[in-house]
Amino acid sequence: MLSTEALTEIKSKLVIKAREHGFQDARVSDTSTSGYFAKFKQWVNDGFHGDMSFLERNQNLRSSPDELHPGTLRVVSLRYDYLPEHAGFVKPLKHPQQANVSRYALGRDYHKLMRKKLDAVCRQLQAEIETSDAVDYRVFVDSAPVLETSFAEKSGLGWKGKHSLIINKKAGSWFFLGEIFINLPLPIDEPVEDLCGNCSACISLCPTDAIIDSKKVDATRCISYLTIENKGPIPISLRSKMGNRIYGCDDCQLACPWNRYAQISKETGFQPKNNLDTISLLQLWQWNEKEFLDNFQGSPIRRIGYQNWLRNLAVAIGNSVYEPQTIELLVNKKQEANDLVCEHIDWAISQLKNRQSNDLTVNKKTQKLINCVTNMLPRDA
Ligand code: SF4
Repeated sequence: MLSTEALTEIKSKLVIKAREHGFQDARVSDTSTSGYFAKFKQWVNDGFHGDMSFLERNQNLRSSPDELHPGTLRVVSLRYDYLPEHAGFVKPLKHPQQANVSRYALGRDYHKLMRKKLDAVCRQLQAEIETSDAVDYRVFVDSAPVLETSFAEKSGLGWKGKHSLIINKKAGSWFFLGEIFINLPLPIDEPVEDLCGNCSACISLCPTDAIIDSKKVDATRCISYLTIENKGPIPISLRSKMGNRIYGCDDCQLACPWNRYAQISKETGFQPKNNLDTISLLQLWQWNEKEFLDNFQGSPIRRIGYQNWLRNLAVAIGNSVYEPQTIELLVNKKQEANDLVCEHIDWAISQLKNRQSNDLTVNKKTQKLINCVTNMLPRDA
């Protein structure tokens, strides 16, 4: 049995290794999901998870890490910043003809990248401690039924904001989370204070009013869900509110004053590829399926498939500026589109024809958001 001193030393080594591999923070919690799991279950029972049926399954594994990986005594939550150097927030908000892709998806897919790093941290740790035979672990990056934000909050990596993401008071919220389940009773870290206070900027500026209560998001209204997880049509009532957001949405994070303290990621893999931070909707629309697959090799965007990519683009083009050649490009794409996409193309054409002018003004919420971001992030002005 390891002494308290030995466990403290192992924890320090783990944190050092994590930093060496690019993680900004690593903190430890116990495995209890008491209080958190009941809320999660209620959220699922209320149907706010939409079609994400994987969230209904494996409830026993989600509620107890020890069942997911037998012998687990602690959960280590780790932070990996992803904000690219030139975040370029304002331009896609101001210009509806430009593609607006969530900042986390501009570059390389984070899953494999972080998993490899987590594995390396654990292997090196195992190699350095005397009782390495007795050390057992498993790493996770969004890959299994893990209540990741709950463990991050318990460990004090940050607090859960009203938008339900984790916020760190020195780093904002632009980071991914990873977990190590480990069989050692490492010393536990304390949670931190919730510092949202009276602020409700994320709630009031969400384009589709998806944050229905503090820390409660109706995924079926959330643009991230609608453009990524949703396999079916995008509800007509929400299409015009989505603007040019074609893969995910950053607005709740952009609205958050704590992101004044956001840290720029040093990870070169997260820098934008294919000019995704500046490219226009019509340029992307003209990619065929092969170009989509080739250009998004190693990108999280590839996972949604070409047809859903076209579906998202059709909605955004319908919300963008009318140009004479746009209708022709929309109609031509029908040769490659399935029925679902064709319906979205028809919707886009009717939107553009009804408008037929370029007096498209950014809606009030987006304008407020632009003001927020411009005040918060001088690097993006
Ligand atoms: S915008 Fe305000 S309410 Fe929302 S998460 Fe940030 S601090 Fe909390």
